[in-house]
Amino acid sequence: MLRYIVVLLGLAFSMIIPFPLFADISSTNVICIDPGHPSESGHGTAGRHITEIDAAWDVSLLLKQDLIADGFTVVSTKSSAEEFVTNKQRAETANNAHAALMIRLHCDADAGTGIASYAPDRQGVVNGVHGPSQTVIDESQAALKVFHAALIKSLDGLLADRGMFADTSTRIGGKQGALTGSIYSKVPVVLVEMCVLTNPHDEAIIDSADGQRKIAAALTAGVKAAVACESKQ
Ligand SMILES: [Zn+2]
Repeated sequence: MLRYIVVLLGLAFSMIIPFPLFADISSTNVICIDPGHPSESGHGTAGRHITEIDAAWDVSLLLKQDLIADGFTVVSTKSSAEEFVTNKQRAETANNAHAALMIRLHCDADAGTGIASYAPDRQGVVNGVHGPSQTVIDESQAALKVFHAALIKSLDGLLADRGMFADTSTRIGGKQGALTGSIYSKVPVVLVEMCVLTNPHDEAIIDSADGQRKIAAALTAGVKAAVACESKQ
């Protein structure tokens, strides 16, 4: 009921005031940043000098600053580096904020080098819950392409381009059909493996203030490209 009153008041005001007082800012201006781990899927990986938790947290703070400077409203799924948040709760933070994009920050453990982006390309199932919707899948796939292209362009060779993948290429996504955070997401979602933390070359980049700043700037470029593409749809 309250919702209808608010809508009616909004309509009444919009007839009087010559700008959209109750414009849907949520669909274009809110970005949800999800610094990976700790969650039910563990504490993540670690390099020799920095953990995945700290790398994702450090970059998330810089990304938040950059996005706010660019006029976005930012919500974060965590309020401290070590806060335990389940992947379902992380998705719910993005859903409740009606985020234009949920950007999930991780680091990989692998033999390779470089940065990679992931998005759901089909529905998965976890605890009997099926998701995300086909709309979210389509929007995530569209976001993934422009996000990753802008990310790589901005990095300008700092990190190698490992490419774009579906959630199913990950261990958990392969089992479930999509990552848990994607299954529960009602907004477009992209996950970035920012580097291979077990590779000393990659670790040195994300363990440096300059490297973190450049990665955050590249993520910002990716987010802006993805949101600009969304608003055209
Ligand atoms: Zn991770």
